[in-house]
Amino acid sequence: MDNHYSVPFILRGLLLFLAPFLLIGWLADAFWMWLAIGLIVVVSWHYLYQLRLIHWLWRSRNLLPPSASGSWSYIYDGIYRTQRRSQQRRRALARILRRFREASEALPDAAFVFRRDGALLWSNKLAQFYFGLRWPGDAGLRISSLIRHPDFLAYLNRGDFSEALNMPSPMRESLELELRIMPYSEDQFLLIARDVTQLRQLENMRRDFVANVSHELKTPLTVLQGYLEMMESPADVPDALLAKAVKDMDGQTTRMGKLIDQLLVLSRIESQAGDIFDHKVGMPRLLKALENDAITLNSERNHELVFDFENVDMYGREDEMRSVIMNLVSNAIYYTPAGGTIRISWKPVLGGAMEFCVEDTGPGIAQEHIPRLTERFYRVDRDRNSKRGGTGLGLSIVKHALEHHNSHLQINSLPGKGSRFSFRISAEQLVDDN
Ligand code: ADP
Repeated sequence: MDNHYSVPFILRGLLLFLAPFLLIGWLADAFWMWLAIGLIVVVSWHYLYQLRLIHWLWRSRNLLPPSASGSWSYIYDGIYRTQRRSQQRRRALARILRRFREASEALPDAAFVFRRDGALLWSNKLAQFYFGLRWPGDAGLRISSLIRHPDFLAYLNRGDFSEALNMPSPMRESLELELRIMPYSEDQFLLIARDVTQLRQLENMRRDFVANVSHELKTPLTVLQGYLEMMESPADVPDALLAKAVKDMDGQTTRMGKLIDQLLVLSRIESQAGDIFDHKVGMPRLLKALENDAITLNSERNHELVFDFENVDMYGREDEMRSVIMNLVSNAIYYTPAGGTIRISWKPVLGGAMEFCVEDTGPGIAQEHIPRLTERFYRVDRDRNSKRGGTGLGLSIVKHALEHHNSHLQINSLPGKGSRFSFRISAEQLVDDN
């Protein structure tokens, strides 16, 4: 503002304005009348500008004030500047708010803000998806009436938000959410919800895995312990029972050893990373070795073994492919009753891919078991398999190793007729020697 604008400045202006009136009044010998006329003109002038100001403030859409003179120019300019400043501040605030909203939309979590009395103030898109909130339709409504899950209501009522709450999404039961509420500004709260479904599944898997391994190791240990107790006084043990004990103990220790070996293979496969195109698998050599192993394994069973292999190499990890092939072939030999036929092939199929296939004339597998066969420790018939010494880990090793090679295990089976286990390796993953 102009620094000249002060009481003496106003008085000087007033005096200068009234001076002609005072002069006329003095000359006409009507001083007081002309002073009154001058003052009436001053007051009217002020009323005129006051009227213009009111019109500008309330009716005009123009942001610029009307032109004014004297003290009114200061008033108009002052109001105009204040308005400009508050408009700029409003714009800056809207920008900050927009940025905050954009940032919260980019969050991988659901977020909403509510007041102490429960009124919903704002929510991001993910919150609308997880909790079925509508925005802005639900603005101002109480969250206790929008999210009616009993655990959530109890959590809200308790008012102690130091620990997170886990609950299923009201929109999708299978979605597990972890909710945290944080006090935010004076009487507002920010709720953040994360999707922890996968984390929970992993935790459950780990728990199940530990429980399964412990169970699998405990069974043979109990058998061993029983026999060892019996042998504390070997003189009392009949020879036949002793021979059976030694045979059983041998079987159980072999089984434990196999379990540990397979667990190690599984953990190695799971932790292996890197490009499979870095290594070649010499399939003819691998399949020849497999043929010999299969013939040895088959010595007790006397199945007819039919091999049909093409000389095509692939890219991948040899140790993993050996595990895959051996597991499938040894399963076929073991599960097929003596005298069956087992066909093992590595042959081209449509699209330039190659297929490895093991077909047997064994007992087959009922349809309901098939999707679960590659789960760790899953066995169709626990008793029968424990005699065979199976660990239930073989097909899960196959599944993981094939995933590394961008392939998957295909299982077709008809109970009573036999099973067909196969996987395909795409043309890009085959070694082209030409
Ligand atoms: P295991 O060590 O018990 O053989 P796997 O993971 O290799 O474990 O196999 C899982 C289950 O799948 C086996 O317990 C068996 O019930 C079934 N299975 C696997 N291969 C065959 C097959 N060729 N014929 C019939 N059942 C099979």
